[in-house]
Amino acid sequence: MNSFTYTGLPARVVFGVGTTAALPDEVGALGIKKALVLTTTHQKAEGEALAEILGNASAGVFSEAAMHTPVEVTERAMAAFKTAGADGIVSIGGGSTIGLGKAIALRNDAPQVVLPTSYAGSEMTPIIGQTEAGKKTTQRTLKVLPETVIYDVNFTLTLPPKMTVTSGMNAIAHAVEALYAQEANPVLSLMAEDGIAKMTSALARVQEAPADIDARSDALYGAWLCAVCLGSGGVALHHKLCHVLGGSFDLPHAETHTVILPHALAYNAPAIPRAMEALRRATESDKPAAALFQIAQSAGVPTSLEELGMPQDGIARAVDITLENPYFNPRALERDALVTLLENAWHGHEPA
Ligand code: NAD
Repeated sequence: MNSFTYTGLPARVVFGVGTTAALPDEVGALGIKKALVLTTTHQKAEGEALAEILGNASAGVFSEAAMHTPVEVTERAMAAFKTAGADGIVSIGGGSTIGLGKAIALRNDAPQVVLPTSYAGSEMTPIIGQTEAGKKTTQRTLKVLPETVIYDVNFTLTLPPKMTVTSGMNAIAHAVEALYAQEANPVLSLMAEDGIAKMTSALARVQEAPADIDARSDALYGAWLCAVCLGSGGVALHHKLCHVLGGSFDLPHAETHTVILPHALAYNAPAIPRAMEALRRATESDKPAAALFQIAQSAGVPTSLEELGMPQDGIARAVDITLENPYFNPRALERDALVTLLENAWHGHEPA
Protein backbone atom coordinates (compact mmCIF):
# COMPACT_ATOMS: atom_id res chain seq x y z
CA MET A 1 0.00 0.00 0.00
CA ASN A 2 1.24 3.51 -0.78
CA SER A 3 1.68 5.99 2.07
CA PHE A 4 -1.14 8.47 2.60
CA THR A 5 -2.54 11.17 4.89
CA TYR A 6 -6.10 11.03 6.18
CA THR A 7 -7.78 13.90 8.02
CA GLY A 8 -10.97 13.00 9.89
CA LEU A 9 -13.17 15.94 10.83
CA PRO A 10 -14.92 16.01 14.22
CA ALA A 11 -18.68 15.77 13.84
CA ARG A 12 -21.38 13.78 15.54
CA VAL A 13 -23.86 12.12 13.16
CA VAL A 14 -27.31 10.82 14.06
CA PHE A 15 -28.86 8.98 11.11
CA GLY A 16 -32.26 7.37 10.53
CA VAL A 17 -35.99 7.80 10.04
CA GLY A 18 -37.63 10.06 12.63
CA THR A 19 -34.29 11.04 14.18
CA THR A 20 -35.61 14.60 14.63
CA ALA A 21 -36.98 13.32 17.94
CA ALA A 22 -33.38 13.46 19.20
CA LEU A 23 -33.15 17.21 18.54
CA PRO A 24 -33.78 18.47 22.11
CA ASP A 25 -31.19 16.04 23.53
CA GLU A 26 -28.64 16.88 20.85
CA VAL A 27 -29.11 20.62 21.40
CA GLY A 28 -28.79 20.12 25.16
CA ALA A 29 -25.65 17.97 24.77
CA LEU A 30 -23.92 20.95 23.13
CA GLY A 31 -24.90 23.15 26.08
CA ILE A 32 -27.25 25.26 23.96
CA LYS A 33 -29.95 26.96 26.05
CA LYS A 34 -31.69 28.88 23.22
CA ALA A 35 -31.31 27.87 19.58
CA LEU A 36 -32.20 30.11 16.66
CA VAL A 37 -33.79 27.93 13.95
CA LEU A 38 -32.72 28.81 10.40
CA THR A 39 -34.63 28.03 7.18
CA THR A 40 -35.48 29.44 3.76
CA THR A 41 -38.91 31.05 3.30
CA HIS A 42 -39.86 27.89 1.40
CA GLN A 43 -39.14 25.63 4.40
CA LYS A 44 -40.44 27.94 7.14
CA ALA A 45 -43.10 25.42 8.23
CA GLU A 46 -40.40 22.79 8.90
CA GLY A 47 -38.48 25.38 10.93
CA GLU A 48 -41.55 26.22 12.99
CA ALA A 49 -42.13 22.54 13.68
CA LEU A 50 -38.57 22.27 15.02
CA ALA A 51 -39.07 25.37 17.19
CA GLU A 52 -42.11 23.67 18.69
CA ILE A 53 -40.14 20.48 19.39
CA LEU A 54 -37.47 22.61 21.10
CA GLY A 55 -40.03 24.39 23.30
CA ASN A 56 -38.23 26.65 25.80
CA ALA A 57 -34.92 25.93 24.07
CA SER A 58 -36.14 27.72 20.93
CA ALA A 59 -35.09 31.31 20.23
CA GLY A 60 -37.51 31.53 17.29
CA VAL A 61 -37.22 31.02 13.55
CA PHE A 62 -35.22 33.10 11.06
CA SER A 63 -36.48 32.14 7.60
CA GLU A 64 -34.54 34.35 5.20
CA ALA A 65 -31.71 31.98 4.18
CA ALA A 66 -30.83 32.53 0.51
CA MET A 67 -28.52 31.17 -2.22
CA HIS A 68 -24.83 32.12 -2.04
CA THR A 69 -25.00 33.31 1.61
CA PRO A 70 -25.40 37.08 1.03
CA VAL A 71 -23.68 39.06 3.80
CA GLU A 72 -26.71 41.34 4.28
CA VAL A 73 -28.88 38.31 5.17
CA THR A 74 -26.20 37.12 7.62
CA GLU A 75 -26.20 40.56 9.26
CA ARG A 76 -29.98 40.41 9.75
CA ALA A 77 -29.64 36.87 11.15
CA MET A 78 -26.90 38.05 13.54
CA ALA A 79 -29.24 40.79 14.79
CA ALA A 80 -32.09 38.26 15.27
CA PHE A 81 -29.67 35.93 17.12
CA LYS A 82 -28.66 38.71 19.51
CA THR A 83 -32.18 40.08 20.08
CA ALA A 84 -33.53 36.61 20.89
CA GLY A 85 -30.69 35.89 23.33
CA ALA A 86 -29.70 32.82 21.32
CA ASP A 87 -26.55 30.83 22.08
CA GLY A 88 -26.78 28.18 19.36
CA ILE A 89 -28.07 27.39 15.89
CA VAL A 90 -30.38 24.77 14.43
CA SER A 91 -30.31 24.80 10.61
CA ILE A 92 -32.86 22.85 8.59
CA GLY A 93 -32.55 22.83 4.81
CA GLY A 94 -30.14 22.54 1.93
CA GLY A 95 -26.77 24.12 1.33
CA SER A 96 -28.15 27.67 1.42
CA THR A 97 -29.58 27.38 4.93
CA ILE A 98 -26.58 25.44 6.22
CA GLY A 99 -24.38 28.18 4.73
CA LEU A 100 -26.22 30.82 6.78
CA GLY A 101 -25.65 28.83 9.98
CA LYS A 102 -21.96 28.55 9.12
CA ALA A 103 -21.76 32.29 8.44
CA ILE A 104 -23.15 32.99 11.93
CA ALA A 105 -20.74 30.48 13.52
CA LEU A 106 -17.87 32.14 11.67
CA ARG A 107 -18.73 35.41 13.43
CA ASN A 108 -19.63 34.23 16.93
CA ASP A 109 -18.52 30.57 17.15
CA ALA A 110 -22.07 29.46 18.04
CA PRO A 111 -22.52 25.67 18.12
CA GLN A 112 -24.59 24.24 15.25
CA VAL A 113 -27.02 21.35 14.96
CA VAL A 114 -27.86 20.76 11.29
CA LEU A 115 -30.72 18.81 9.72
CA PRO A 116 -29.88 18.50 6.00
CA THR A 117 -32.82 18.14 3.59
CA SER A 118 -30.90 17.99 0.30
CA TYR A 119 -27.80 16.05 -0.78
CA ALA A 120 -25.42 18.99 -1.34
CA GLY A 121 -23.20 18.03 1.62
CA SER A 122 -22.25 21.37 3.16
CA GLU A 123 -22.95 19.97 6.66
CA MET A 124 -19.75 17.86 6.59
CA THR A 125 -17.34 20.55 5.41
CA PRO A 126 -15.29 23.28 7.08
CA ILE A 127 -15.94 25.43 3.99
CA ILE A 128 -17.97 28.64 3.87
CA GLY A 129 -18.73 30.70 0.78
CA GLN A 130 -20.17 34.19 1.20
CA THR A 131 -21.32 36.87 -1.24
CA GLU A 132 -20.80 40.59 -0.75
CA ALA A 133 -21.55 43.20 -3.43
CA GLY A 134 -21.92 40.39 -6.00
CA LYS A 135 -18.51 38.88 -5.21
CA LYS A 136 -18.26 35.37 -3.73
CA THR A 137 -15.35 34.49 -1.45
CA THR A 138 -14.72 31.09 0.09
CA GLN A 139 -12.72 30.16 3.15
CA ARG A 140 -11.91 26.99 5.06
CA THR A 141 -11.98 27.04 8.89
CA LEU A 142 -13.02 24.51 11.50
CA LYS A 143 -15.03 27.30 13.15
CA VAL A 144 -17.83 26.71 10.63
CA LEU A 145 -17.92 22.90 10.79
CA PRO A 146 -21.26 21.89 12.38
CA GLU A 147 -20.86 20.04 15.68
CA THR A 148 -23.86 17.74 15.22
CA VAL A 149 -25.71 16.58 12.12
CA ILE A 150 -29.11 14.90 12.38
CA TYR A 151 -29.96 13.12 9.13
CA ASP A 152 -33.70 12.43 9.19
CA VAL A 153 -34.81 10.62 6.03
CA ASN A 154 -38.35 11.97 6.53
CA PHE A 155 -37.26 15.49 5.57
CA THR A 156 -35.98 14.30 2.19
CA LEU A 157 -39.31 12.82 1.08
CA THR A 158 -40.42 16.25 -0.14
CA LEU A 159 -37.32 16.88 -2.23
CA PRO A 160 -38.80 17.21 -5.76
CA PRO A 161 -37.71 14.36 -8.12
CA LYS A 162 -35.67 16.62 -10.43
CA MET A 163 -33.89 18.38 -7.56
CA THR A 164 -33.27 14.93 -6.08
CA VAL A 165 -31.28 14.01 -9.17
CA THR A 166 -29.31 17.25 -9.53
CA SER A 167 -28.59 17.35 -5.80
CA GLY A 168 -27.63 13.64 -5.89
CA MET A 169 -25.28 14.24 -8.84
CA ASN A 170 -23.75 17.14 -6.90
CA ALA A 171 -23.05 14.66 -4.08
CA ILE A 172 -21.66 12.01 -6.45
CA ALA A 173 -19.28 14.60 -7.93
CA HIS A 174 -17.65 15.11 -4.50
CA ALA A 175 -17.00 11.36 -4.16
CA VAL A 176 -15.84 10.89 -7.76
CA GLU A 177 -13.15 13.54 -7.38
CA ALA A 178 -12.12 12.23 -3.94
CA LEU A 179 -11.11 9.00 -5.74
CA TYR A 180 -8.42 10.75 -7.79
CA ALA A 181 -7.68 14.06 -6.05
CA GLN A 182 -4.20 14.76 -4.70
CA GLU A 183 -5.52 14.02 -1.18
CA ALA A 184 -6.97 10.61 -2.19
CA ASN A 185 -6.47 7.88 0.41
CA PRO A 186 -7.80 4.34 0.93
CA VAL A 187 -10.23 5.28 3.71
CA LEU A 188 -11.94 8.01 1.72
CA SER A 189 -11.94 5.78 -1.36
CA LEU A 190 -14.02 3.23 0.58
CA MET A 191 -16.51 5.93 1.50
CA ALA A 192 -16.49 7.39 -2.00
CA GLU A 193 -17.19 4.08 -3.72
CA ASP A 194 -20.01 3.15 -1.35
CA GLY A 195 -21.43 6.69 -1.47
CA ILE A 196 -21.59 6.59 -5.29
CA ALA A 197 -23.02 3.07 -5.29
CA LYS A 198 -25.76 3.97 -2.78
CA MET A 199 -26.64 7.23 -4.51
CA THR A 200 -26.71 5.95 -8.10
CA SER A 201 -28.90 3.00 -7.20
CA ALA A 202 -31.19 5.18 -5.06
CA LEU A 203 -31.65 7.85 -7.75
CA ALA A 204 -33.22 5.35 -10.14
CA ARG A 205 -35.54 4.02 -7.41
CA VAL A 206 -36.58 7.49 -6.20
CA GLN A 207 -37.65 8.46 -9.72
CA GLU A 208 -40.10 5.54 -9.62
CA ALA A 209 -41.30 6.16 -6.06
CA PRO A 210 -40.26 9.53 -4.54
CA ALA A 211 -41.50 8.58 -1.06
CA ASP A 212 -39.87 5.11 -0.91
CA ILE A 213 -38.21 5.16 2.52
CA ASP A 214 -35.55 2.56 1.65
CA ALA A 215 -34.50 4.38 -1.51
CA ARG A 216 -34.53 7.75 0.28
CA SER A 217 -32.52 6.23 3.12
CA ASP A 218 -29.84 4.96 0.70
CA ALA A 219 -29.76 8.35 -1.03
CA LEU A 220 -29.26 10.24 2.23
CA TYR A 221 -26.69 7.75 3.51
CA GLY A 222 -24.86 8.01 0.19
CA ALA A 223 -25.07 11.81 0.43
CA TRP A 224 -23.44 11.69 3.86
CA LEU A 225 -20.54 9.55 2.59
CA CYS A 226 -20.10 11.86 -0.39
CA ALA A 227 -20.19 14.88 1.93
CA VAL A 228 -17.37 13.40 4.03
CA CYS A 229 -15.39 13.12 0.79
CA LEU A 230 -15.91 16.82 0.13
CA GLY A 231 -15.02 17.80 3.69
CA SER A 232 -11.91 15.62 4.09
CA GLY A 233 -10.80 14.96 0.53
CA GLY A 234 -9.74 17.03 -2.40
CA VAL A 235 -11.20 18.18 -5.68
CA ALA A 236 -9.90 18.46 -9.24
CA LEU A 237 -10.92 19.55 -12.74
CA HIS A 238 -14.65 18.90 -12.33
CA HIS A 239 -15.00 21.21 -9.33
CA LYS A 240 -12.75 23.81 -10.95
CA LEU A 241 -14.96 23.92 -14.04
CA CYS A 242 -18.11 24.16 -11.91
CA HIS A 243 -16.62 27.01 -9.87
CA VAL A 244 -15.69 28.87 -13.06
CA LEU A 245 -19.10 28.32 -14.66
CA GLY A 246 -20.99 29.23 -11.48
CA GLY A 247 -18.81 32.21 -10.61
CA SER A 248 -18.28 33.78 -14.04
CA PHE A 249 -21.44 32.72 -15.90
CA ASP A 250 -23.86 32.55 -12.98
CA LEU A 251 -24.97 29.00 -13.79
CA PRO A 252 -27.02 27.13 -11.14
CA HIS A 253 -24.94 25.05 -8.67
CA ALA A 254 -26.38 21.51 -8.67
CA GLU A 255 -27.43 21.57 -12.34
CA THR A 256 -23.95 22.62 -13.43
CA HIS A 257 -22.42 19.71 -11.48
CA THR A 258 -24.91 17.39 -13.17
CA VAL A 259 -23.99 18.53 -16.68
CA ILE A 260 -20.21 18.70 -16.20
CA LEU A 261 -19.50 15.55 -14.15
CA PRO A 262 -19.76 12.94 -16.97
CA HIS A 263 -17.53 15.07 -19.23
CA ALA A 264 -14.90 15.85 -16.60
CA LEU A 265 -14.78 12.16 -15.70
CA ALA A 266 -14.40 11.12 -19.36
CA TYR A 267 -11.54 13.64 -19.67
CA ASN A 268 -9.70 12.17 -16.69
CA ALA A 269 -10.54 8.49 -17.35
CA PRO A 270 -7.28 7.60 -19.17
CA ALA A 271 -5.23 8.90 -16.21
CA ILE A 272 -7.16 7.22 -13.36
CA PRO A 273 -7.31 3.43 -13.90
CA ARG A 274 -7.89 2.55 -10.20
CA ALA A 275 -10.60 5.15 -9.74
CA MET A 276 -12.30 3.89 -12.92
CA GLU A 277 -12.28 0.36 -11.50
CA ALA A 278 -14.03 1.64 -8.36
CA LEU A 279 -16.50 3.60 -10.49
CA ARG A 280 -17.31 0.58 -12.65
CA ARG A 281 -18.15 -1.35 -9.47
CA ALA A 282 -20.13 1.54 -7.97
CA THR A 283 -22.19 2.31 -11.09
CA GLU A 284 -22.42 -1.37 -12.16
CA SER A 285 -21.46 -0.23 -15.64
CA ASP A 286 -18.47 -0.64 -17.96
CA LYS A 287 -18.85 3.02 -18.87
CA PRO A 288 -19.24 5.07 -15.66
CA ALA A 289 -19.23 8.48 -17.40
CA ALA A 290 -22.00 7.39 -19.76
CA ALA A 291 -23.89 5.81 -16.84
CA LEU A 292 -23.86 9.12 -14.93
CA PHE A 293 -25.01 10.99 -18.05
CA GLN A 294 -27.88 8.53 -18.48
CA ILE A 295 -29.09 9.03 -14.89
CA ALA A 296 -29.59 12.72 -15.64
CA GLN A 297 -31.04 12.10 -19.09
CA SER A 298 -33.60 9.55 -17.93
CA ALA A 299 -34.73 11.86 -15.11
CA GLY A 300 -35.32 14.69 -17.61
CA VAL A 301 -32.94 17.15 -15.92
CA PRO A 302 -30.66 19.36 -18.05
CA THR A 303 -27.74 17.52 -19.66
CA SER A 304 -26.34 20.47 -21.62
CA LEU A 305 -24.78 23.82 -20.73
CA GLU A 306 -26.99 25.33 -23.44
CA GLU A 307 -30.08 24.46 -21.38
CA LEU A 308 -28.49 26.20 -18.36
CA GLY A 309 -28.11 29.45 -20.33
CA MET A 310 -24.36 29.28 -20.94
CA PRO A 311 -23.40 31.30 -24.06
CA GLN A 312 -21.51 29.06 -26.51
CA ASP A 313 -19.06 31.87 -27.23
CA GLY A 314 -18.17 31.92 -23.52
CA ILE A 315 -16.42 28.54 -23.73
CA ALA A 316 -12.99 29.92 -24.67
CA ARG A 317 -13.18 32.40 -21.77
CA ALA A 318 -14.20 29.62 -19.35
CA VAL A 319 -11.15 27.60 -20.44
CA ASP A 320 -8.89 30.67 -20.05
CA ILE A 321 -10.13 31.23 -16.48
CA THR A 322 -9.71 27.51 -15.69
CA LEU A 323 -6.10 27.58 -16.89
CA GLU A 324 -5.25 30.87 -15.13
CA ASN A 325 -5.37 29.31 -11.67
CA PRO A 326 -5.79 25.55 -12.13
CA TYR A 327 -6.51 22.98 -9.42
CA PHE A 328 -4.49 19.75 -9.19
CA ASN A 329 -5.69 17.27 -11.83
CA PRO A 330 -4.54 13.73 -12.62
CA ARG A 331 -4.48 14.44 -16.37
CA ALA A 332 -2.60 17.50 -17.65
CA LEU A 333 -4.91 20.36 -18.58
CA GLU A 334 -4.76 20.73 -22.36
CA ARG A 335 -6.46 23.79 -23.82
CA ASP A 336 -7.85 22.14 -26.96
CA ALA A 337 -9.10 19.09 -25.06
CA LEU A 338 -10.78 21.35 -22.47
CA VAL A 339 -12.52 23.32 -25.23
CA THR A 340 -13.76 20.02 -26.67
CA LEU A 341 -14.93 18.93 -23.19
CA LEU A 342 -16.98 22.12 -22.76
CA GLU A 343 -18.27 21.99 -26.36
CA ASN A 344 -19.50 18.44 -25.71
CA ALA A 345 -21.08 19.56 -22.43
CA TRP A 346 -22.64 22.58 -24.15
CA HIS A 347 -24.32 20.38 -26.76
CA GLY A 348 -25.20 17.67 -24.22
CA HIS A 349 -23.42 14.86 -26.08
CA GLU A 350 -23.19 11.58 -24.19
CA PRO A 351 -19.54 10.90 -23.24
CA ALA A 352 -17.97 7.49 -23.94
P1 NAD B 1 -30.59 25.16 -1.56
O1 NAD B 1 -30.23 24.99 -0.14
O2 NAD B 1 -30.40 26.51 -2.17
O3 NAD B 1 -32.11 24.72 -1.72
C1 NAD B 1 -32.87 25.07 -2.88
C2 NAD B 1 -34.35 25.17 -2.50
O4 NAD B 1 -34.85 23.86 -2.19
C3 NAD B 1 -34.57 26.03 -1.26
O5 NAD B 1 -35.74 26.79 -1.44
C4 NAD B 1 -34.79 25.00 -0.16
O6 NAD B 1 -35.56 25.51 0.89
C5 NAD B 1 -35.50 23.91 -0.93
N1 NAD B 1 -35.37 22.58 -0.33
C6 NAD B 1 -34.26 22.02 0.24
N2 NAD B 1 -34.55 20.79 0.68
C7 NAD B 1 -35.86 20.55 0.39
C8 NAD B 1 -36.74 19.45 0.60
N3 NAD B 1 -36.31 18.30 1.17
N4 NAD B 1 -38.01 19.57 0.20
C9 NAD B 1 -38.44 20.69 -0.42
N5 NAD B 1 -37.66 21.77 -0.66
C10 NAD B 1 -36.38 21.69 -0.25
O7 NAD B 1 -29.86 24.12 -2.53
P2 NAD B 1 -28.68 23.08 -2.29
O8 NAD B 1 -28.39 22.49 -3.61
O9 NAD B 1 -28.98 22.19 -1.14
O10 NAD B 1 -27.45 23.98 -1.82
C11 NAD B 1 -26.75 24.75 -2.76
C12 NAD B 1 -25.89 25.77 -2.05
O11 NAD B 1 -25.07 25.13 -1.09
C13 NAD B 1 -24.94 26.49 -3.01
O12 NAD B 1 -24.95 27.86 -2.70
C14 NAD B 1 -23.59 25.87 -2.73
O13 NAD B 1 -22.53 26.75 -2.99
C15 NAD B 1 -23.71 25.53 -1.27
N6 NAD B 1 -22.84 24.40 -0.89
C16 NAD B 1 -21.84 24.67 0.00
C17 NAD B 1 -21.00 23.65 0.40
C18 NAD B 1 -19.93 23.93 1.39
O14 NAD B 1 -19.19 23.02 1.75
N7 NAD B 1 -19.79 25.14 1.86
C19 NAD B 1 -21.18 22.34 -0.09
C20 NAD B 1 -22.21 22.10 -0.99
C21 NAD B 1 -23.04 23.14 -1.38
